[in-house]
Amino acid sequence: MRYALWMGTRFPSRGDQKLIQIVDSALADVTRRSGKWLVCRPGCTQCCIGAFSINQLDAFRLRRGLADLEKRAPERAARVRQRAGESVARLSPEFPGDPGSGVLHEGEEAEQQFADFANDEPCPALDPETGNCELYESRPMTCRVFGPPVRSEDGLGVCELCFQGASDKEIAACEMKPDPDDLESRLLEELERSTGTRGNTIIAFCLAP
Ligand code: SF4
Repeated sequence: MRYALWMGTRFPSRGDQKLIQIVDSALADVTRRSGKWLVCRPGCTQCCIGAFSINQLDAFRLRRGLADLEKRAPERAARVRQRAGESVARLSPEFPGDPGSGVLHEGEEAEQQFADFANDEPCPALDPETGNCELYESRPMTCRVFGPPVRSEDGLGVCELCFQGASDKEIAACEMKPDPDDLESRLLEELERSTGTRGNTIIAFCLAP
């Protein structure tokens, strides 16, 4: 069974709650500073299309969120699982990793393969009828910081729907620093040590039955 270890892990969720608090407060701050430039709203789902890699901490949080949804709304949770299972079936043949474990291969070649992989695949957590995320509170870090200007090794990136017509200076003034002390890396290391599961995956593999 995939990810059987997570249920029994002693990984402290309190650390992850702290991380979420830090990132969400940075988002609230950048939302205030950005004003009209940031056009994110419920039902805007362009950023929910196309697979992206998530780390084991994201996967842990998503599975915990799905387990919570299962208690509150079992039918909705079952639909998420079903969409994830269907997605895994569609994506497995071309998956640039181990389709048995869902872990992506590492290295330049695998990264190049991943760049062309599943770019039209909807996220299984997205409810196609409402356009809402079923696991919003437990979403991965990439989803939490997508939209406002965030720095990466490629420079300052922003959602193509946001900051339209803004100057470089206006964009730079709204830079979001989601996790200045890199708490995420420390938590990830701790989690990987405690579960023995390492490497990145995608949301479909993480939530599939
Ligand atoms: S990040 Fe872009 S695509 Fe996603 S909700 Fe915001 S505006 Fe819409």
